[in-house]
Amino acid sequence: MGLRGEPVSIGKLERFAADYALEHDIRPESSKEKNGHKVAVIGSGPSGLTCAGDLAKQGYDVTVFEALHELGGVLVYGIPEFRLPKEKVVAKEIEKVKELGVKFETNVVIGKSTTIDQLFEEEGFEAVYIGSGAGLPMFMGIPGENANGVFSANEYLTRANLMKAFDENYDTPIFAGTNVAVVGGGNVAMDAARVAARLGACVHVVYRRSETELPARAEEVHHAREEGIIFDLLTNPKEILVDENGYVKGMKVVKMQLGEPDASGRRRPEEIPGSEYEIKTDTVIMSLGTSPNPLISSTTKGLDINRWKCIIADEENGQTTKEGVFAGGDAVTGAATVILAMGAGKAGAKGIDEYLKNK
Ligand SMILES: Cc1cc2nc3c(=O)[nH]c(=O)nc-3n(C[C@H](O)[C@H](O)[C@H](O)COP(=O)(O)OP(=O)(O)OC[C@H]3O[C@@H](n4cnc5c(N)ncnc54)[C@H](O)[C@@H]3O)c2cc1C
Repeated sequence: MGLRGEPVSIGKLERFAADYALEHDIRPESSKEKNGHKVAVIGSGPSGLTCAGDLAKQGYDVTVFEALHELGGVLVYGIPEFRLPKEKVVAKEIEKVKELGVKFETNVVIGKSTTIDQLFEEEGFEAVYIGSGAGLPMFMGIPGENANGVFSANEYLTRANLMKAFDENYDTPIFAGTNVAVVGGGNVAMDAARVAARLGACVHVVYRRSETELPARAEEVHHAREEGIIFDLLTNPKEILVDENGYVKGMKVVKMQLGEPDASGRRRPEEIPGSEYEIKTDTVIMSLGTSPNPLISSTTKGLDINRWKCIIADEENGQTTKEGVFAGGDAVTGAATVILAMGAGKAGAKGIDEYLKNK
């Protein structure tokens, strides 16, 4: 439709369908017959939940292993409460998966508490789906990055979400900050900036390219501006300045200009010599992207990854390079979207069903 006129708002349509199902208590149908086959799902994010739900509907005996104490993955600890209400939406969706008979084990870190090979050899699982996401944050590698008051966006948002910084009745151990600098221009940066602003800080988003190249959705940038976030565009951090007690006291930045397009097709940012200056800040939130944590791949024999540490898996059925092991979501694609992670969960469930039926 976007080619012919106004594009359909697919996100709004998805939301309408999900809200309608919640309001009218529409529940998924499941098979009453259990088939006795045990499947393990690693991670309770949208990918793992979808895969587990689809397999349970077909009669499989599914257990989800989750590293954290709460279920839901980034839906719960990444996306802020004001964009995705946890009790009203996420908890209800998880409840539906539980009703299908899926078992959940929290505080189990696969690769540490136990391994995939042990799940097969010692616990009788016949197939495994990895939906462990892409939770490893990137940093810039500039001086001062280890100071107190420097966070990854993941850590900052996790503290805000899981320790309920948005609720006045909670005493959250979070560094609220007075002057916060968020480095990066993606959707996660917009979320971190808006959370910091709602905790009372004056927030600057520091981004090395111009407005045109901002990777965040226009809607998110608009909302951030509405909430008073200031954008320092064509600006790049050089050093985080640290006081005598090891706390952030400022950030040295440099002005940038755009040169020729690079491999990504975007114009390459170049430093303007002699344009360094200092900004006053007590909290720096690095929002430069994430990659999958190599814990699972490094502890599982025969599970191959690519150069970005993403697990190699077939898009059609989630099959990895190891027999009986399937994967999908951010662990395979790198940081992407909820709906893609859910789609991969469905493909993985189909792949596992075919694999076990043919075995
Ligand atoms: C701040 C933020 C905002 C976002 N906003 C949007 C948005 O508006 N729209 C959108 O579509 N997408 C958004 N995304 C992206 C989206 O949330 C992800 O693409 C999606 O959650 C990926 O789902 P997943 O199931 O693959 O992984 P995740 O949601 O990351 O879940 C992975 C789960 O696996 C667990 N895990 C990891 N390692 C192990 C292990 N070794 N053992 C056991 N468990 C493990 C983790 O604790 C986690 O619970 C956002 C992401 C962030 C960070």
